Amino acid sequence: MNLLLVEDEAVLRQGLVDLLHTAGYGVDTAGSGPEAVRKIGEGTYDLILLDVMLPGFDGIEVCRRIRPAHPTLPILMLTAKGSEDDKVRGLKAGADDYVTKPFGARELLARVEALGRRVRATPVEPEVLKNDGCTLDLGRLQAVRGRQIATLTVREGALLRWLHRHRTRAVSRAELLEQVWNLRPDMETRTIDMTVANLRSKIERDPADPRIVVCVKGVGYAWGQDAAR
Ligand code: CA
Repeated sequence: MNLLLVEDEAVLRQGLVDLLHTAGYGVDTAGSGPEAVRKIGEGTYDLILLDVMLPGFDGIEVCRRIRPAHPTLPILMLTAKGSEDDKVRGLKAGADDYVTKPFGARELLARVEALGRRVRATPVEPEVLKNDGCTLDLGRLQAVRGRQIATLTVREGALLRWLHRHRTRAVSRAELLEQVWNLRPDMETRTIDMTVANLRSKIERDPADPRIVVCVKGVGYAWGQDAAR
């Protein structure tokens, strides 16, 4: 793992670099908020160790600035003892975890290891469903059939995801309202039929195209390939 250590106190920084090197990590350093933002933008790091009190702007502002472009980059904040406010602000700004200064070497290494493990355990895999020549990329909200690309709405993506996940059976409109729309199941169900009609016009353009969302009479809908048989 390649880490960026953001810490302005030179003695502590050198101590941490030595500790992390000994533990087998690659370590780069930054000594201010602006330097941290610049290095994170240019480099490829697996984890950021980020002090709160920094010259330029603080670690919480660093978090805030880098999060949009690096949504999954693990950030471990180094907060001052007793500063409950820093912890809360840090977590709100997008930090994943924190250790309180002064911390022991073993505690810090355990946190770094745990955070790294958690990140490695949850790879961000593309969510792609294929159905008879139609590729549904639910992560990017795109439906591709031949040369035609249609953009899906978040709701259409959620609907397809739910039908596919439960593809061994038909799914009722009440269940869809509750699970996909977060609405009470006794509410108006026409909105589902309209959404399905719009969705079909994108993913089943040609009447000859295979059905992906199948209407199951008296029940609701089902994922085309498996449940409709
Ligand atoms: Ca500091």
